[in-house]
Amino acid sequence: MGICTQTGVTELNSIPAKRWLQPVISGLATDKELIALFDRNLDTAELLAKDRQYVWHSMVSYHANSQPLIVTGGEGSWIVDSNGERYLDAMSGLYCVNVGYGRKELADAAYEQMMALAYYPLTQSHTPAIRLAEKLSEWLEGDYVIFFSNSGSEANEAAFKMARQYQQQIGESSRYKFISRYRAYHGSSMGALSATGQSQRKYKYEPLSAGFLHVCPPDSYRRPAGQTVEQFNLYCAQAIEDTIIWEGVESVAGVIMEPVISGGGVIVPHQVYLDRVQEICNKHGVLLIIDEVICGFGRSGFKFGYQNFKLKPDIVTMAKGLTSGYLPLSATAVRKDIYDRFKDEEDYGFFRHVNTFGGNPSACALALKNLEIMEREGLVERSRILGQRLEEGMKQLLDHPLVGDIRSFGFLLGVELVTNKATKEPASVDAVKKIIGQCKARGLIIGKNGDTAAGFNNVLTFSPPLSSTDEDLAFILSTFTAVMNEIGDGMPV
Ligand code: PMP
Repeated sequence: MGICTQTGVTELNSIPAKRWLQPVISGLATDKELIALFDRNLDTAELLAKDRQYVWHSMVSYHANSQPLIVTGGEGSWIVDSNGERYLDAMSGLYCVNVGYGRKELADAAYEQMMALAYYPLTQSHTPAIRLAEKLSEWLEGDYVIFFSNSGSEANEAAFKMARQYQQQIGESSRYKFISRYRAYHGSSMGALSATGQSQRKYKYEPLSAGFLHVCPPDSYRRPAGQTVEQFNLYCAQAIEDTIIWEGVESVAGVIMEPVISGGGVIVPHQVYLDRVQEICNKHGVLLIIDEVICGFGRSGFKFGYQNFKLKPDIVTMAKGLTSGYLPLSATAVRKDIYDRFKDEEDYGFFRHVNTFGGNPSACALALKNLEIMEREGLVERSRILGQRLEEGMKQLLDHPLVGDIRSFGFLLGVELVTNKATKEPASVDAVKKIIGQCKARGLIIGKNGDTAAGFNNVLTFSPPLSSTDEDLAFILSTFTAVMNEIGDGMPV
């Protein structure tokens, strides 16, 4: 059935409530559910109608037949919607609510800071930014200086500008290019989107920034026959060096990568890949920028994802889990000796980049409290334990006809769905949506690598709060297994 168009709702606003709701009901739902909802809860129906009229959602097709949850509360790993239905959020929102929902301590930290000093720009300074920067430097286990912004995209934009400027200031003025991997995501703004290796996220927004190049990701599951995982990973790393050489070493400023491609399909490299990437960057004077927007803050079972692989990044970008999503905040951490080169020159030597809200005092105070909670409750270690158990539980599904591969990194897990295990033919977007829908119907929210590269949107993702209880984990496993078994038993996909 069709959906209620925006124009339709506008016109209907002026007519009496029940008639006004009728097209909403017929437009939004093909089943009896929404009609029951009308009787039960007028507010939700009304909110849905207004939502259709006023809110432009992220990543949702206007022709989508589904309706959003109107989420009204959260506690631990669970959210509740306007109908009072509870869901376990095995995606932590968008990979960010690492300490779980409903933490009063975080709200208090923000409130107290707001009452003391609600805002001051970081053209000057304030205590929460100083304390948080010091704490982040400790978590990074290196000598880093921190630049604050509000989102992961902005943190990456700052990193690109810093890298280009740094290269110029050390006399490498022709270096401006960045290399990243296909299937990786680095943000929505024009520079960060240029670094993104997902064609479907770029389609209709191009041309983007010049100087962003892409190479193949170390997707070991799809490696050519006859190659070992190590050989294939070395081959993928070599693609970076080849690109640097073919483009001209003197033209390349940096390489940007997540330690593990997360939202792009949970693509986990072998240690040899990252060892080699580090070596290549060092050898050619190319800065290694590590995007920790998802992998950071305990998600990987370490404080930062790169620590699993003992990398020494030049620049680290982070967001999401920094505040567990409670307030917007991101950061670009830069090695101290790189930062020092911004002091050399009087006129244009400093970083001429301002972010009005970046490092907002309340967001910084909240982030500090967030890190304190993670330390106090041992959530980084908990992530490692929960991740192992999730993986063990999920591996029972490897025999399932639709499950091609299961990959995990700390408490982040991807299930790659295929229609044919021998050919590895990716499962359709419809099959992925169906499984997600079935999980949702049973109270479990899971994610997917949607709209990345055509034909490769077949990975289900799990990234639950690190504070999840044993019961939460059991619920995730039992619900997902039940859905998969039901599908395996002949439900059409
Ligand atoms: N980098 C990575 C790895 C991400 O996953 C994201 C967001 N999903 C970003 C950057 C961009 O972050 P934001 O949406 O906060 O701009």
